[in-house]
Amino acid sequence: MSPFRPNSCRGTIVVPKEVYGSSELGAPLYYFPPQKKCSHLFIAGIHGEEPETTFLLSRVLRFFQTPPLHVGVVLCANPDGMIHGTRGNARGVDLNRNFPASNWSSKTVYSRLCLEFPRETALSPGEKALSEPETIALCHLIKKINPECVVSLHAPLNCIDARIKSKTVLALQHIFALDWVESIGYETPGSLGSWCDETQIECVTVELPRVDLESLEKNYAYSLATYIANL
Ligand SMILES: [Zn+2]
Repeated sequence: MSPFRPNSCRGTIVVPKEVYGSSELGAPLYYFPPQKKCSHLFIAGIHGEEPETTFLLSRVLRFFQTPPLHVGVVLCANPDGMIHGTRGNARGVDLNRNFPASNWSSKTVYSRLCLEFPRETALSPGEKALSEPETIALCHLIKKINPECVVSLHAPLNCIDARIKSKTVLALQHIFALDWVESIGYETPGSLGSWCDETQIECVTVELPRVDLESLEKNYAYSLATYIANL
């Protein structure tokens, strides 16, 4: 028998959630804890203009009647950015440059408005590392639950970025049919990945391909749910 809820019940998420902090504008930061020790923490929506990451993890969570055994989920690490449709948070900070890694830099962060455009759109990395409530809360959460691996979802660079080709990378490559890269090709000081490296937690960044939402559901939701159910 399938451990998953039928399609007719997948309109809602029924696994319990906990609040792990609140955003600059006071939105609750939610986390869906696993039943047992967290081996993998999946994080979406750290960049508010990548809502497809939240969409995909939401579709995955809706398969579950009870929480996954060993996987925790943050559906949206930057709710203020998501409701404004901005990459940064409400204070214009790129949260993925605000983590307290030794390579944190005060230099302006430049990103692209779309893949074909030059990297010229400016955001702040914060006044200092951990200047933002969303980053502080996420660091506390990760330290508290101490997962073996953080899987951070982004889009749309179409690759899996991780320091080593681990078991998790291989499994995610199989699910998403994405190439593994050792580096994304530009500097990312103060990123979640840099901080995890120094905290001895594996971090795998999944850059989803540039596809429509229906294709995310059709191509990946079931296989990602199955992977998560078996971790
Ligand atoms: Zn991103």
